[in-house]
Amino acid sequence: MPLEFEPVIGLEVHAQLLTKTKLFCGCSTAFGARPNTHVCPVCLGLPGSLPVLNREAVRMAVRIGLSLGCSVETRSIFARKNYFYPDLPKGYQISQYDQPLCTTGHLDVALPDHDARRIGIVRVHMEEDAGKNVHGMGGDSVVDLNRAGTPLVEIVGAPDLRSSAEAAEYLRRLREVLMALGANDGNLEEGSFRCDANVSIRPKGATTLGTRCEIKNVNSFRFVEKAIDFEIARQIAMVSSGRSIEQQTVRWDEASGKTHPLRSKEDAHDYRYFPEPDLPPLVVDETFIAEQKQSLEELPETRRARFVKELGLTPYAAEVLTAHPRVSEFFERASGIFRDPQKVANFFQTEVLGGVETSGLSATFPVSAEQLAELLALVEERKISGKQAKEVYAKIAGTSRAPRDVVKESGLVQLSDPSELEAICRRIVDANPKQAAGYRAGKTALLGYFVGQVMKETRGSANPAMVNEILTRLLTQS
Ligand SMILES: [Zn+2]
Repeated sequence: MPLEFEPVIGLEVHAQLLTKTKLFCGCSTAFGARPNTHVCPVCLGLPGSLPVLNREAVRMAVRIGLSLGCSVETRSIFARKNYFYPDLPKGYQISQYDQPLCTTGHLDVALPDHDARRIGIVRVHMEEDAGKNVHGMGGDSVVDLNRAGTPLVEIVGAPDLRSSAEAAEYLRRLREVLMALGANDGNLEEGSFRCDANVSIRPKGATTLGTRCEIKNVNSFRFVEKAIDFEIARQIAMVSSGRSIEQQTVRWDEASGKTHPLRSKEDAHDYRYFPEPDLPPLVVDETFIAEQKQSLEELPETRRARFVKELGLTPYAAEVLTAHPRVSEFFERASGIFRDPQKVANFFQTEVLGGVETSGLSATFPVSAEQLAELLALVEERKISGKQAKEVYAKIAGTSRAPRDVVKESGLVQLSDPSELEAICRRIVDANPKQAAGYRAGKTALLGYFVGQVMKETRGSANPAMVNEILTRLLTQS
């Protein structure tokens, strides 16, 4: 009988902190500027320059740690991680090593087919990013140091994940936490949220860890899943055929659908860490930590639970409405004005959502929360029907026009005159004797057919509740 294997996966995420300036100098962190325009002696690593720590970056890192249930250490140490690479002019990266800022947290991850599992977070530490080598420009490779010195947190997860799907879900949850805090824009393509995956296998039931391979810098959730699945299958095939796994770093190649070795253990880096002599220990006092804890943003998980429990939304709607921090804000503002959250949620999902465009942490909406609330109020006041609301929506989308003005101008009014509606309904019933007989014989679903005919006749302006009531009465009379 073949051995059954269990995958063991741990993720390391590098997330760029959304500070205006770099971690140790005043240079801008803005993305997309002309190469080497956001640089200074500090981030170029010129001799004699000295780093000065960015307070805002520390604040964000502390908030990330707290959101992940970590202990925030009141004293942590910056360390030099020494290696030579063209995009690292100093010859070392300032990071944290044996005394990181945050330790021992967790993140709960649920998959559709089983309950949430608690995944450990080993540590969250601060470090600076390196620059960027750009290859193939007129046959040359060039170095852009705009990114050098940009603040990052590295979030090291415990090897608690057991499938590629769980790993991808962990990443999605982690990303939404960072975005909710406003600490990271969650942009995988631009590399401001990137992930390395450590993958190993072991016989099911074993408690020791197998030899792991590290998949470097995968830049989409889908590729993470594919890369991990490939790596698991490769390792199982190796071990099953009696070979052993060599510890190595691999790269996911989307074109071939395979991982390729980058370097093996023999040439793995020895970083010769030592405490950064140009920076004192990082001391954050208990008061500061308590202040940050008190002022933490509501986390997406908590918000989803609240939307379901307190606002009566379905879990699906709660998921959709918390998928982006700006979407949640929009929804809460609209349902703060028009106080029927379920109606706001329904209209938002069917009409508004398709026109929402997000880019990183920002989003644009076709209408404002105020416009949406006013539109729904018009339906509630029975000034217009639900169908007319969609027409009005189409007219106000992309403009700042007030729904009330549009209704007035277009002469849209809901038909709610009982005698007028009764006459129309009677006409429709008389014109369809076969369906009427069917209804009376018990096919009550035919009511929908009659409602449809009335709506067609009134071009959607009839008050649906009244139409239902009148038709039911007419059809049950013989
Ligand atoms: Zn600089």
